[in-house]
Amino acid sequence: FGSEKNTQPVHRGKSVKRIDTLKTGPKSKSVPTTPNTEHKSLDPAKSRSRETSPLDSRLKHIMQTLEGVDPTACQQIINDIMVSNSHIYWDDIAGLEKAKNSLKEAVVYPFLRPDLFKGLREPIRGMLLFGPPGTGKTMIAKAVATESKSTFFSISASSLLSKYLGESEKLVRALFYLAKRMAPSIIFIDEIDSLLGDRSDNTNESSRRIKTELLIQWSELSSATAREDKENDSPLDNRVLVLSATNLPWIIDEAARRRFTRRLYIPLPDCETRLYHLKKLMSRQKNNLSEEDFNKITSMIEGYSGSDITALAKEAAMEPIRDLGDDLMNINFENVRPVGLSDFLEAMATVKMSVSKESLKQYEQWAHLYGSTG
Ligand code: ADP
Repeated sequence: FGSEKNTQPVHRGKSVKRIDTLKTGPKSKSVPTTPNTEHKSLDPAKSRSRETSPLDSRLKHIMQTLEGVDPTACQQIINDIMVSNSHIYWDDIAGLEKAKNSLKEAVVYPFLRPDLFKGLREPIRGMLLFGPPGTGKTMIAKAVATESKSTFFSISASSLLSKYLGESEKLVRALFYLAKRMAPSIIFIDEIDSLLGDRSDNTNESSRRIKTELLIQWSELSSATAREDKENDSPLDNRVLVLSATNLPWIIDEAARRRFTRRLYIPLPDCETRLYHLKKLMSRQKNNLSEEDFNKITSMIEGYSGSDITALAKEAAMEPIRDLGDDLMNINFENVRPVGLSDFLEAMATVKMSVSKESLKQYEQWAHLYGSTG
């Protein structure tokens, strides 16, 4: 079950291994357009593999032939926003079959077989994943990138507005430029509501400018594709998707909403998915849970999100360790008692569901009004 080994995330504490080939990137404007790809590793095997990596050479070539974009911004994108080795696959994600199928048809197959997906079948340019927090939206975005063999660029809208503020417009231009040159690409923007929301609009001049730049770059994707297709009648090589996620879809204004051709509801897990998720998590942990126990826990955790379930299982797994008290330092690993039903009951006092019934209604209403079915 890949979700556990990948629990470190991209944003909001999520971790993935980022491309570190060009980590020598610039701090100031006097950055050479040719990045220093020599990594100062003491491990000769590592340095060798870095030198020969096709990705390295591709990035190096791109950095040497930049046109009309800021080299510093490009370097920043490569260092901080381009992600490699996230290795999340469809099977790592519990449930969400409808969303997975929809993404396969809308993105994965068109990216893998551009020759079949031309004209009316051309891939969409914008997709929104919305739903309560912790339901797997970020995991899905990573899986789409892995499964479609795309370059994955991942940024949260809030960091565009804070960490990169002042540089953000340049950064947005560089982001789309690199995405096109590294196509097929997925630009994943998390917490998109903070950028495309009504509230962010008029209140702050710089965020309004970033929003405008994002919308311009995004439209140019579609028009460039249309032009290219008409002129050359060749397979599209401009496969770039803006994939966004939000927990607050109702904040996104109407004009921006329309740009997301598909808006996929990522709901809380149903009974079957909760059971599957729980069993996967416990398959790696010594336990004495019977089928009946699993079913009991599954029905007790109705309303828990995927991340609530992961947190609950972790908390339950701590109980046998807590029971050890001072023996903790001496006991052999094999002698630690298995996790049982009572541990889950105990853990439920600490780890509660994080999504309220009221907000769930709000998601369902929005999904009914604006969400894509299937
Ligand atoms: P979101 O982006 O919707 O807030 P994430 O994709 O970041 O949620 O999920 C957070 C964590 O919760 C994941 O790293 C994983 O451990 C767990 N999780 C959430 N949904 C699922 C799911 N459907 N299948 C497996 N794990 C999940």
